[in-house]
Amino acid sequence: MKTNQTFTMIKPDAVANGHIGAILNKISEAGFSIKALKLTRLSKADAEAFYAVHNERPFFNDLVSFMTSGPIVAAVLEKENAVHDFRTLIGSTNPAEAAEGTIRKHYATSVGENAVHGSDSDENAAIEIAFHFSAREQF
Ligand code: UDP
Ligand code: MG
Repeated sequence: MKTNQTFTMIKPDAVANGHIGAILNKISEAGFSIKALKLTRLSKADAEAFYAVHNERPFFNDLVSFMTSGPIVAAVLEKENAVHDFRTLIGSTNPAEAAEGTIRKHYATSVGENAVHGSDSDENAAIEIAFHFSAREQF
């Protein structure tokens, strides 16, 4: 398993609000290189599977309907300490608690519609990358 990669999605809110370019720019400026990238849309089954760990949580249905409400950008990012450093770059799940300068502080509108996803461990990064990208889509 590669430990220098993480997986991100630019979520439907940020795509709809025209923030794809600004967010990718912030990611590049923070030293991540893009190893895979696509504009796509999650089906209900995709979103339910991707967020299966949360399926008992009260926000699960809202999360699935939000994540299927419009296109997303999926990407594989590479950098030393990618998972940890990307979580720092995106900030807290709740934008009200996100640090200044983070992507969520700038672009998230609520705890649910929070602009970006970032993997929370190397193990989950590998699972999430494989969920979204075939080997030949990764560079
Ligand atoms: N979420 C939500 N309400 C909550 C917690 C989470 O709607 O109280 C949504 C939010 O979009 C979040 C996603 O569920 O990004 C996954 O939750 P997690 O706790 O894994 O947060 P993350 O890892 O994205 O910071
Ligand atoms: Mg998470």
